[in-house]
Amino acid sequence: MNNKLQPAKRIRDLPPYLFKAIDDKKAALAATGKKLLNFGIGDPDLPTPDFVIAALAAEATRPANQKYPAYEGGPVFRRAVAAYMQSRFGVTLDADRQIGALIGSKEGIAHFAWAFLEEGDIALVPDPSYPVYATTARFAGAEPYFLPLREETGFFPDVSAIPDAIAERAKVLYLNYPNNPTGAVPMRGQIEEVLAFARRFGIIVLADAAYAELVYDQADRLSLLTFPGAEEVVLEMHSFSKTFNMTGWRLGFAVGNPTLVGGLTRLKTNVDSGVFDAIQLAGVAGLAHIESFLPGLLGDYRRRRDALVEVLTKFQMPFFMPRGAFYLWAHCPQGITSLDFTMRLMEHAGIVTTPGSGFGAAGEGYVRFALTQPVGVIKAMAEGLSAFRTS
Ligand code: PLP
Repeated sequence: MNNKLQPAKRIRDLPPYLFKAIDDKKAALAATGKKLLNFGIGDPDLPTPDFVIAALAAEATRPANQKYPAYEGGPVFRRAVAAYMQSRFGVTLDADRQIGALIGSKEGIAHFAWAFLEEGDIALVPDPSYPVYATTARFAGAEPYFLPLREETGFFPDVSAIPDAIAERAKVLYLNYPNNPTGAVPMRGQIEEVLAFARRFGIIVLADAAYAELVYDQADRLSLLTFPGAEEVVLEMHSFSKTFNMTGWRLGFAVGNPTLVGGLTRLKTNVDSGVFDAIQLAGVAGLAHIESFLPGLLGDYRRRRDALVEVLTKFQMPFFMPRGAFYLWAHCPQGITSLDFTMRLMEHAGIVTTPGSGFGAAGEGYVRFALTQPVGVIKAMAEGLSAFRTS
């Protein structure tokens, strides 16, 4: 075989795909006719709202929207984002210098690494966390330094435990609240401490705000950019995916420090050609309706969370009470790995979850339930768990 056909080292070095074993098991069980209740993936089951779809349909017909879009997002989109950040978070932004459109926040996170990290840099990565931070930091040649998130500290990193020698070499610290996978939301003092640390060492804070709108208590809705001095170091990524059930549409935005937004946009002008204008304008329609739309969505997630809490409590499965995102982080029984527990739950209870170890070594001992199923399906879990107990 011609070795030149081999993927690059950065691909060969990727860790084995943990979810393959789960996918295989799922397929094998489904082939036997077993009905599975799927709490595995973080992809909303609910549809994109009509006002977004109607805006796309109208805007897609306009020839002006059918051309290459502006790399950084069109002026109407950026002005709408500025108004949104002001009204929902109290953050004032310069729409020309502090806002850039993204093809979903995953794209922004990945290209951020390429724009700002290099060989020899350290990336401070929470553990557990969305795997894209560590993977893309590695792609850019940086070395992840993992910050364990512990339940006792509300799944927030302890920056005082980071040695100065590491902090000196660190270029970025990733933060994600409301948090995937734990559902945690931080306290203000914790954020202040992280920002003071980042400013002291000149470290970029990449704030992944993909779930910013999904909080059970509106007092928990926040942007890091409201904190004094945050603008010096923060690049915050927002997404339409979870707020408006738009995962397939690929729309998000980066806001914050103008040098960081500018650097990311500069990289992107060489990689992609922006977001389809009609999709941007559909997103603008979404933002215009957010106040009437969101309470219903949050009500659904609250009912689902409460139903799951009831089931888990009944079966004496301990869990961390989530304050945001649409996940619930539950403990595995003692003496079994999260992967084995996931497999057993699937086989004996027909329940699909995600093993905590898929989010990092410190995720071991937990499984994640995504609340992307209606209450009826959540209640149906009880039957599966009864069978599981006696298996
Ligand atoms: N960040 C976190 C923490 C996520 O869980 C996800 C998706 O699940 C994303 C970012 C990516 O979202 P998108 O690229 O759809 O905006």
